[in-house]
Amino acid sequence: MNAPHTELPYYEAAGNEVDLFEHAWKNHLPVLIKGPTGVGKTRFVAYMAAKLNLPIYTVACHDDLTAADLVGRHLIGDGATYWSDGPLTRAVREGGICYLDEVVEARKDTTVVIHPLADHRRVLPIDRTGEVLHAPSSFMLVVSYNPGYQNFMKGMKPSTRQRFVSLRFDFPNAEREESILRGETGCDEMTAKRLVGIGRSLRALKDVDLEEVASTRLLVYAAILIRDGMDPVEACRASLVESLTDDQEVAEALLEVVLATFG
Ligand code: ADP
Repeated sequence: MNAPHTELPYYEAAGNEVDLFEHAWKNHLPVLIKGPTGVGKTRFVAYMAAKLNLPIYTVACHDDLTAADLVGRHLIGDGATYWSDGPLTRAVREGGICYLDEVVEARKDTTVVIHPLADHRRVLPIDRTGEVLHAPSSFMLVVSYNPGYQNFMKGMKPSTRQRFVSLRFDFPNAEREESILRGETGCDEMTAKRLVGIGRSLRALKDVDLEEVASTRLLVYAAILIRDGMDPVEACRASLVESLTDDQEVAEALLEVVLATFG
């Protein structure tokens, strides 16, 4: 559980997403955020929770996640059984945000538990206790996913996705990405510019087979290592090259891009 924040996490906005999120929250609409990994989806939700002064419960979804992991289960302790709320139930009871990260990783029979919460009913029936929780006005459901090609087959059930207002996140433009690197790591302007240039060149590589391209997160890692005094090439090798590929040839091609700037 994360208690309501007193300090706003650092978030560099791209457009009208802060405004849209507030309108959605005020009007009890759930929000879906889609976009590649490491472009600020999770940071944005943490920022909004703090801005709206709401507790946030984050669940990293995976294919073994069950409805009980979200809603809760009976546990045994001191010779008796007692009910333990899952993160979704807690968020409903407290009127906070429940954020399901990478929701397409969860099985469809798990995600159906959010349906009655994600439309006008705003209820959470808890079969095992017989309770039906009515979500307070401040409760909000937020889900995110990465529509990259590895998720192509999984997708989201239309009956689930059509319950959400959707926001698309993408890689920031150069100016915004530089601000993110400087704001997040305190690195100097030249380092930020160079790293953003490398990130953009890496993303533009056409003949290199990568499952995911370089995210802002990886550029942040490189900036942290450089700011801390590491050699820029070694910092980029560790964050931008080796984190993106295991293939030696591909790694060499990526390193060429780094060397063109820092070599
Ligand atoms: P996602 O949830 O999209 O995978 P995150 O929100 O975890 O990505 O972002 C990864 C990291 O990148 C953050 O921890 C932060 O350092 C940085 N970052 C990306 N976008 C932003 C942004 N708009 N403002 C501030 N930091 C950002």
